[in-house]
Amino acid sequence: MGKLDVKILRYLTPENFRVLTAIEMGMKNHELVPALLATQIANLRYGGVHKLLKEMCKHKLLSYERGKRYDGYRLTNAGYDYLALKVLTQRGTIRSFGNQIGVGKESNIYVVANEEETPLCLKLHRLGRTCFRNIKEKRDYHQHRHSASWLYLSRISATREFAYMKALLDRGFPVPKPIDFNRHCVVMELVEGGPLCNINEVNNVEELYDELMDLIIKLANHGVIHGDFNEFNIMIKDDGKPIIIDFPQMISTEHENAEAYFERDVNCIRDFFKRRFGYESELYPTFQDISREDSIDAEVKASGFTRQIEKEIDIFLTENGIEYKEEKDNENNEDNEDSEDSEEEIYEDCVDNIEDLKYQLKNLQLQNKIVAKEVEFD
Ligand code: ADP
Ligand code: MG
Repeated sequence: MGKLDVKILRYLTPENFRVLTAIEMGMKNHELVPALLATQIANLRYGGVHKLLKEMCKHKLLSYERGKRYDGYRLTNAGYDYLALKVLTQRGTIRSFGNQIGVGKESNIYVVANEEETPLCLKLHRLGRTCFRNIKEKRDYHQHRHSASWLYLSRISATREFAYMKALLDRGFPVPKPIDFNRHCVVMELVEGGPLCNINEVNNVEELYDELMDLIIKLANHGVIHGDFNEFNIMIKDDGKPIIIDFPQMISTEHENAEAYFERDVNCIRDFFKRRFGYESELYPTFQDISREDSIDAEVKASGFTRQIEKEIDIFLTENGIEYKEEKDNENNEDNEDSEDSEEEIYEDCVDNIEDLKYQLKNLQLQNKIVAKEVEFD
């Protein structure tokens, strides 16, 4: 797991992309997508689709599996990576791929470069594949949803991260500049330096401690708690300044357990400074020190990004989960008049077909064979 085979980005055709997208669409309400359904969503000939499906299984972008009630295809991590990376390269956000620089429990991090050869950081979010319950306890993705899948979770996680980073950067917080995102992938500024956990010596321990505590309280004054504010999520730049990373789990200061999360963040820093630098201070912020001056929490919740996801999930919840409209992820939708359909257009196209399908599905015997088997978590 984890290796990106980027060569594949070059030789897969728009038809491959269309079929892969169809499987992604089908997975919104089928655990396994039968070839026939994929064919209908992709609106291609069955024979052609069949060949493409087999080809993509060979490249491990799809897997074919036997279910209890029917057999079908599902996207693999690599297939989902491919869809997102294809869009990001087509937009010109990414041009080339470099080394993996981090493996988190819930992400893979790579160095990539744009067309100006500026190195950037690519974070692929990977959630929910193995143990949904842990994530559910740990993170706050599920206020409104009763069913989801790893596709959704990873995508929500990336979307939240992008939205928070943007809101924080706009207010002058020291975070990497968010550049673009698609599906479960976020592209951001590459921080030169290393995580605090690798630092054994700093110029001025007290100054860094104060700076980090000030950040915790400043975040809270803006309505948010990082929720994982520790030495792994604080990068120290070459000039000694901290940069905060890793935001999908951020929560509002209005959250019912906000005080506990706040204290945990504070204690992470206190414990680390004691352990690593032998530094202890009487001074540390408490929840009562917060004085609200802004509402990043409300802004992110109301932003186009996450609202769209919320809406999406609501629709996902309805009996007829096929009824679904995909947003444009970014303002970045210049119309290109190329003869070849862009990935975004193909995606839209698949959505339109789904609209038709929802009527057909009701009538076809297909309905008996393809029982929408939603993944249940609650
Ligand atoms: P996770 O959610 O898996 O913990 P993080 O966002 O914390 O993911 O990233 C994991 C590691 O990748 C970090 O500890 C850091 O070493 C590296 N990393 C993440 N973002 C950046 C970045 N923008 N620039 C440089 N390194 C980064
Ligand atoms: Mg982290």
